[in-house]
Amino acid sequence: MKNRLRKGISVLAASALTAVSFSSVMPANAASSSDSFPFVIEGENMEGASLWTQNYGPNPEGYSGEGFNYLTNDTASFTVNVPEDGMYTITVRAAQVLDKGGRVETVKVNGNKTSLNMPYSEEWMDLSFGNFRLKKGENLIEFPSEYGYMAIDKVTVDVAPKHDYSLATDVLSDKNATPETKALMSYLKSVYGSHIIAGQQEIYGGGHKNNYEWENEFLKNLTGEVPAIRGVDFMNYNPLYGWDDGTTERCIEWATKRNGIVTASWHINIPKDFDNYTLGEPVGWQECTYKNYQSGQGSLSFDTRNVVVKGTKEYDYFQLAMEDLAEQLLRLQEAGVPVIWRPLHEAQGNEGNYSDGTAWFWWGDRGAETYKEIWKLLYTTLTEKYGLHNLIWEYNSYDYSNSATWYPGDEYVDIVAYDKYNVEYNRGDGKSSGPNLLAIPAKFDSLYRLTNGKKMVAMAENDTIPALDNLLVEDAGWLYFCPWYDGGEDGGTAFLGENYQDYDELKKIYQSDYCITLDELPLDLYSTKEPVVIPDAPEIASIDYSEKYHQVRFTWKPVDGATNYGIAVYLAGKWRIQTQSIAASATTYTTPKNLTPGKTYKVAIAAKVNGQLTAEQAIKHAVTITVK
Ligand code: CA
Repeated sequence: MKNRLRKGISVLAASALTAVSFSSVMPANAASSSDSFPFVIEGENMEGASLWTQNYGPNPEGYSGEGFNYLTNDTASFTVNVPEDGMYTITVRAAQVLDKGGRVETVKVNGNKTSLNMPYSEEWMDLSFGNFRLKKGENLIEFPSEYGYMAIDKVTVDVAPKHDYSLATDVLSDKNATPETKALMSYLKSVYGSHIIAGQQEIYGGGHKNNYEWENEFLKNLTGEVPAIRGVDFMNYNPLYGWDDGTTERCIEWATKRNGIVTASWHINIPKDFDNYTLGEPVGWQECTYKNYQSGQGSLSFDTRNVVVKGTKEYDYFQLAMEDLAEQLLRLQEAGVPVIWRPLHEAQGNEGNYSDGTAWFWWGDRGAETYKEIWKLLYTTLTEKYGLHNLIWEYNSYDYSNSATWYPGDEYVDIVAYDKYNVEYNRGDGKSSGPNLLAIPAKFDSLYRLTNGKKMVAMAENDTIPALDNLLVEDAGWLYFCPWYDGGEDGGTAFLGENYQDYDELKKIYQSDYCITLDELPLDLYSTKEPVVIPDAPEIASIDYSEKYHQVRFTWKPVDGATNYGIAVYLAGKWRIQTQSIAASATTYTTPKNLTPGKTYKVAIAAKVNGQLTAEQAIKHAVTITVK
């Protein structure tokens, strides 16, 4: 079995082995039949191709091989044999001299089509069709003629470069960020790219008969685990109907009592009849809206452009809304609770339904420039006027060609995020209904490139949680996922129902090492102490196996300067902290009893100078043992 774990596990050599052997890393599959990469095939040598040396227009000079293939009537194809599932680039050396405006050209990879606009070019150019997941073994690559008239000199298939997750910064945009906020950001960075954190949006405002734990209980029952991130919405704290549904208290409880992480969005309500609204007067929730004015459901009399113009009623209203919000965020700050803060979300519109300038929400309905001004106003007001320094600013982006123009800028943003909704539309998985398990690697890559990898990329909202295998193979290192709340009546069948979630896959990811759940967050998540110094792992002195109790006892040599040791054991599919602070005088540990002969176990030990062990720290020093 190929080891799919992405955690960095180093294997320690033991000095003594008694009835216990270390398993060695399995040699990579020889895969003698696979092609070598980059794999190059001449266009004229593809199946179904014909040999051309002249086309119907200006002739591109300097082909390689015998000539080129000209896509006219026949599909040209080839197969490529890859050693294991992974991401590959397909690049065509091509020319197109028929259409000055460009022509749509298509590649089919194992039957799935991808099209792009091939620009006019009288010379050979390298046209990248992007990254594709190829499966171990034979893969069929086809160029159907369709609109055609693309000259193909040669095609190159190569291993796609991996994202460099180490480029992401954990330095917050807010230079005055609180120690707890810095500690959380540092933790996020420590798991980014090697794990995904499980999140879940809660219902608010009395849903699920006021059981705000409904989603968590559902997930606990299904998977045995509870998500690490709690998603909330500060919508109900507003100057209009101002309803406290306990969101703030739940956030404080989640972070301080249950050691969880909080993320928050903010559906900012405005009065529909803004003309006749008197600032500060109550307005019933039915008379409020957060929709855009173009939809007919927003407010025609509220001009979003005025939100940033002093002296306007819109400006004054937004000041009031921020004041109400800040009151709650300050309570969180005073309680030592940082927030992954995602205001003004989905500004550029709900994918597939709207486009630039006709967004879901009023804050996006006047385009990118106004939007960025509002973002900056919110940022400076919350940080400077209200002294809020417990916020990790998360910006929702899309991957339209102009999405970068909406980005507020590195100095105002800490994390970029995408909201994945592809069950109803934009599926891309060849199905018409049911859960959509794609990891959407192209979207991830687009957001990664938005900041050249400098900001971590999260899936801030989603319907189906992507399949674990897709996330791992496709190098889609989303920081976390967070399905929207299950809004159905009587327990509901919405986002946690089987129309949206594949329960087998959901269990698989929740129970995997790759996914971090609530009990796997480090106990010092919000610690404001100096970082713990971890010396080298202790040297193992002996490993003994008790045939009577089927347990392993090992001893180690003391590490100079260590104040304590910690042990983690890999049992039942996940790392569990066994003990966090073994005294510095101790040099031995005995595993639980009744290990199964023939099975492989992992035990990790770390020496500490201060503080307690986290699984992350311990597994760097993991020992793999196979019980004989
Ligand atoms: Ca050629």
